[in-house]
Amino acid sequence: MDVTELAENVIAGNRRALARAITLIESARADHREDAAQLLSKLAQTGRQSLRIGLSGTPGVGKSTFIEALGLHLTGQGLRVAVLAVDPSSARSGGSILGDKTRMEQLSRDPMAFIRPSPSQTELGGVARRTREAVAVCEGAGFDVVLVETVGVGQSETLVAGMVDVFGLLLAPAGGDELQGVKRGIMETADIILVNKADGALEATATRTCADYAGALRLLRKRPEDPEDFPKAMLVSAITGKGLEQAWSEITALAEWRRETGHWDRRRAEQAQSWFAEDVRRGLLARLDADAATKAALAALSDDVASGRLPPSVAARQLLDQI
Ligand code: GDP
Repeated sequence: MDVTELAENVIAGNRRALARAITLIESARADHREDAAQLLSKLAQTGRQSLRIGLSGTPGVGKSTFIEALGLHLTGQGLRVAVLAVDPSSARSGGSILGDKTRMEQLSRDPMAFIRPSPSQTELGGVARRTREAVAVCEGAGFDVVLVETVGVGQSETLVAGMVDVFGLLLAPAGGDELQGVKRGIMETADIILVNKADGALEATATRTCADYAGALRLLRKRPEDPEDFPKAMLVSAITGKGLEQAWSEITALAEWRRETGHWDRRRAEQAQSWFAEDVRRGLLARLDADAATKAALAALSDDVASGRLPPSVAARQLLDQI
């Protein structure tokens, strides 16, 4: 199938074409990259936009349970939902935290939903780029909502926050001191903190945890572009469905606000610019790496730096002067 036909089928909502398109963008083969570029250009012409939502949380907080519940709630309302994942463990070890178990069984059978596990790559940057492109493919395919899930470790939150319109952090009920465990940077990127498992024996702890986070959020710098009461902390239970509808209405209210104030477009424009810069950087480095003379000079200068013959900045200048 040629790229034009593939693009047409993706746009028409064909699921097999969608899966194929994502396989294509995940491939590192040079000819596939070229086809992928063409495909992405064609899909961009549709001008379709999904609501992109990022969701982060450590293993066990209930991400898949929550996404399944939210996803089914949304498909029940007639919305088409795609779920993508960024799994930093697949980047590091080739194994996977998110992909090993059967997840979201019911949602994966829902014809209104599409679930795609994290691409495995040798580095997180590669996973991020492919996920970003998969988001674009899903937008071209006309999904109303694209959920990008990530495990809350390392830099993956920052990467995911940089590719979505609204970013949520899912937390489990915890004793007072554990608030410290959530890094300030992650708190600052979150638009909404959802304290999950607010049910049964855990409900009281969840309520306290939620109040703690609400307090912590009030201390953070306000974002002048957002409504007064954001970022906010809320209670949910993925199992009973408690707070689910409210969480969804808060997410859509924030998205709507951002659309109306122009922040949505600005944010997307900035994201696109930073991906562009990142791709140029990566491309340049890859080109340098592929050039034998540069590679040799790099190795020699690197030895000079290691032995102290040249200061790092001087060696870097020498290398750049040779290119
Ligand atoms: P993930 O690793 O973040 O994807 O977490 P899972 O969705 O696999 O859930 C981890 C465990 O927490 C499972 O045993 C779930 O049944 C349980 N769990 C998830 N959501 C809830 C909830 O709302 N309430 C309670 N009590 N347990 C939950």
